[in-house]
Formats: sequence, C-alpha cells, structure tokens
Amino acid sequence: MIHYICKYTPIELFAGFGAECIRREPLVSGFELADGASHQNLCAFSRALLEDCLQNGTGELILVNCCDSIRRVYDILQEKGDSPFLYLLDLPRCDTACARKRFALELKRLANAYAAYSGRAFSAARFQAAFAPLPAPPARPYLSLLGARASQALLEALQNCVSLPVQNDTCTGKRSVSLPADWMPDNLWEAYASALLGQTPCMRMTDPTGRRRLTESPRLRGVIYHTVKFCDYYDYEYSRLKQGQIPMTKIETDYTPPAPGQLTTRIEAFLETLPNTSLQKRKGEAANMNQNAIFAGIDSGSTSTNAVLLNADKHIIAYSVIPTGARAGESAQKALAVALQQAGRRKEEIACTVATGYGRSHIGAGGQGVTEITCHAKGAFFLNPQVRTVIDIGGQDSKVIRLDETGRVTDFVMNDKCAAGTGRFLDMMARTLELDVSRMGEMDRGWKETVTISSMCTVFAESEVVSLIAQNKRTADIVHGLHQSVATKISALLARTKATGSYMMTGGVAKNEGVRRAIEEKIGEPLILPEEPQICGALGAAPYACNQHKAVSDNINHIFYNPLNKPPACAGLEMFCIRRS
Ligand code: ADP
Repeated sequence: MIHYICKYTPIELFAGFGAECIRREPLVSGFELADGASHQNLCAFSRALLEDCLQNGTGELILVNCCDSIRRVYDILQEKGDSPFLYLLDLPRCDTACARKRFALELKRLANAYAAYSGRAFSAARFQAAFAPLPAPPARPYLSLLGARASQALLEALQNCVSLPVQNDTCTGKRSVSLPADWMPDNLWEAYASALLGQTPCMRMTDPTGRRRLTESPRLRGVIYHTVKFCDYYDYEYSRLKQGQIPMTKIETDYTPPAPGQLTTRIEAFLETLPNTSLQKRKGEAANMNQNAIFAGIDSGSTSTNAVLLNADKHIIAYSVIPTGARAGESAQKALAVALQQAGRRKEEIACTVATGYGRSHIGAGGQGVTEITCHAKGAFFLNPQVRTVIDIGGQDSKVIRLDETGRVTDFVMNDKCAAGTGRFLDMMARTLELDVSRMGEMDRGWKETVTISSMCTVFAESEVVSLIAQNKRTADIVHGLHQSVATKISALLARTKATGSYMMTGGVAKNEGVRRAIEEKIGEPLILPEEPQICGALGAAPYACNQHKAVSDNINHIFYNPLNKPPACAGLEMFCIRRS
C-alpha cells in the first residue's frame, strides 16, 4: 500500500504496477514526537504527518516537494530510515511545455525507482484502466469547501451541520486527471505529465488563476474556506475571495480533533447569514398572534444561563441571569423559572421557546436552536438599530460580529481554542490576584504605571502576573495591564472584520469598565452598553420564538428555524413546545 499526500502524485502510474495508493490523512492528538524531531515552524499538516509516521511507521510514502515543510519532513523520515520506499517527487510549479517535459522525465525516474524497488512490471493496460471519470459538477445548490487540504473527518463534521451538499473543492477532493484522447504509448509520459499538471491548480502553482472556476458555478451558495495552521499559501486566495460577493466563512484546523461545539457554531452562524433561508422568509409576522402569548429566549452559555421573556408586542417583560451549573438543561429551566416568577406568569403561558449558546443542543433532548452569533446580533439590533459591530466577550469566547443596516450578520470572527481575550482569562487572573472578577473594573481606575502583559497564552500570562506580584507591582497596574491585553486581542478581531461603528459591547465582560475603557481607547469612540449585557443573546433568541410560533399558526411545516431546510429532529420538541393559543 503506497501512501501519498498530494493530488499531483501519479497514482495511476502505481496502478500500472498493480500497486494500490491511499491518501494519508493524519489525525493526531498532539505533536510530541514531531516537535522532538523538528523545529516547530512546520505547518500543522506537516507536523501531523511527521507525528503519524513516527508513531505508526512511515510505510511506502510518496511526498512532493511542494513546500519547505514537506521537504523537512522528507529529510527527517529519510534519516529515520524505516520506510521501504520513500520518494520525494520533484513537481514543477507551472504548466508550460518545458515544465511538462521536465515532469515527464521525473515520472519516468519514479517509475524506474519503483520498478527497481518492487520488482514489478508496468502494464500500460492497467495504467489506462486506472483513470477515474472526471467528477460531474453538482446538479443542485451546494456549499464549497475551499482552501487548503481538508480531511474526510472535517468534511463529515461539516456535512453534519449542513443540509446542503458540501463539495470538497480542496486538493483532497478535487483530483481530476484524464489522459488526452490522442495519447500513444510512445508519448505516454508527456501525455501523463500534461494531464497531471493540467488539473485545477493548487495555490503552490505560479499561476493559480484556473482556480477561479471553482467559484463560478451558479449553484454555489457559499464558501467554507479552510486553512491549515501555519500555512500561508491560501490566505492570498482567501483575501481575494473576501473582496467578492460570495458569502464566505473561514475555518482553520491543525490536524488535531476539532472542537465540535466551536465548529458547529461557526458553520451554523454562517448559514444563518446566507440570504433566502427559511428564517428570512418568515420575517414580518405577528399580525394574528394571540396577544396574551409570551415567548422565551434562553442563552445557555459556558458561565451564565440567561432567559428573556417577550410579550406578543415583542416588549421585554422579564429576564434572568444565573450561573450555568453542571447540566445545561437544568440551568435553562431554572433561568426560565426565575424570569417567569419576575413576570408573574406561568410556564404554560409560554407559546414558544428558542435556545442559543453553547448548551443549546443540550437543552431538551437535542433540541434545535439558533447560534449565539445570530442571536447576539439580533439582540443588539433590537436594543439599538444604529449598531454595526457587536463585541461579545463571554466566558469562553470572544466574538466580533458585523451587521448591516437591516440587522443581518454580514461577517463574524471568534477567538480560536485559546482562552486569551475571554472572560475565562480574566477569571483566572483575578484568582491569581485574589480579587473578585467583578472588582477588576473599579480597581483599574487607580492605575498609575504601565505594566505590559506580553503573553497571549493564559498559562504564560498567569506566570507573568505571578512574577509581577513578586516584583511588588501595584494590583491596579497589573489589572490595567490585563485589560489592555484583552483589548489588544479584541482589536485584532476587529481588524480582521474591518469593523466600523457604532459598536455595542455584550457578554459578561462588558460589565468590566476597565476592559470597556481599554477597548474604547483602541476604537476611538464610546461603546454602546446595554443595561444588562449578559442577556443580549437570549434577547435575540426570543423574537425567533415569536417567528416560529407564527410559522406554526400559519401551518407551515417547519416548526423550528431551520438553516437551509435541514430536516428538524423530532427530539427536543418538549423544550420548544409550541402551544396553539
Ligand atoms: P457565557 O455567555 O460564556 O456564559 P457571559 O457572557 O456570562 O459568558 O460572561 C461571563 C464572563 O463575564 C465571566 O467569565 C466574567 O469574566 C465576566 N463577568 C461576569 N460578571 C461580571 C461582573 N459583574 N464584572 C466583571 N466581569 C464579569
């Protein structure tokens, strides 16, 4: 079994020798062995490949000299010497007559090397039979997974979030090699070289303009753009596409198992931004709504669970904020009960409930909800239609969400797996300083000396704080430094979305006046602050409950907001109970 990594690998050639090829897609839990064998500047794919080979053996492996990282992997594996057949294919970076000739010679060299190693004979008939038919273009609307190589695991994880087909247009899904009709045995190598080089170019090619056809289909509804950590090649294409009209979101992976919650939130929030979803079609309801009906939005966050009750006129009648306990469902029920008590209403009077936040799928039995990105945007717009950028800093996430003048999300970015710039970061630092996090804001007022917390990593930042305490730095100065560090992180997210005012800050960290001041200094204008910033997500979820109720009243089949008409799961109905009144 021959492993390969690159779509330019001549797998039909190996079929000609009667050998089977399989693409190597490592999924690793860490990089200990790889980091011990190389420097850490390799891209995440190369490190994962190296880790996999060091852990499980290299086997027969064909690499391509497409970048320095892969060349380093080859050097290390060659030195390790456990592979019976390890080959570095010399790939030209262009598809000119000269490049095809050169590549034909390289293919011949590889064929000779493999024949000498395996002792097998090459059969032109087997070679010819190995060419797969070119994939048919999608016949119905689809999303394209574009950018750097994507694993099958990632594709499946994405497809689980989306009802539209996700087409893998990265190099791992877009191998399209066919021999020209006029090939003859005596021009075999030239014809094959030209078929391989004639594929949709990858971003390592000098002229990647042929990639434009990947986004030209009228059936393309949006692009999920994938990049691999520490690989820059695809950022150029991303920047170009970003300037166009195609709805697009970016995800980055590092060949370790993805954080499923974050991935789902990103993709679902992206789907919610696409035009013509079933949700948008249901705007402008409320005409024949029972005037006594009440509607609930619940935001099940990592730190707090919040509930908002609206009446049929979409006025807030009560809200609650409680700490999230071990079980999201129980905390949601508790938050709802507190809000109901405040409003003097009974649970039975709730016509419909919609959940958002990380715990949304744990509320009820796998119920449906709307992502907190869409809900924070809707909540912010509900409170102030001037808002064009929402800065939401919660316990485990910080997000920047951009809205248009209708309140629709046009772009968003989130922090990655790291806790820098989140409430958790401040909670941990407050603990180190033996402070209550709710006192950090007022403490910041007394700062005098600039203290820089240079590390973005929470663990290292904690060590920095410990050493600042040891140096007898004033607590107010350290706190101020921490707030500056959060603002710097947020400033980077704002720059990534090219955010503009007016800005609203939501989430629990908005209660910290020190962080607010630090962000205001960065953006150069005052933030709009809701009276209770923690309820903004729940407030955004509640109008969806009204819309869903109206959809049922109108006998529309889709009970739930349903991105791209994904069939609703039956489970969870009890939570999202819809009572006709
Ligand atoms: P999530 O949505 O993830 O549950 P929240 O929006 O509730 O998060 O925000 C939680 C964070 O807000 C906490 O980690 C804490 O840092 C911060 N926070 C909460 N209350 C206060 C407060 N009174 N003063 C300052 N910070 C606060």
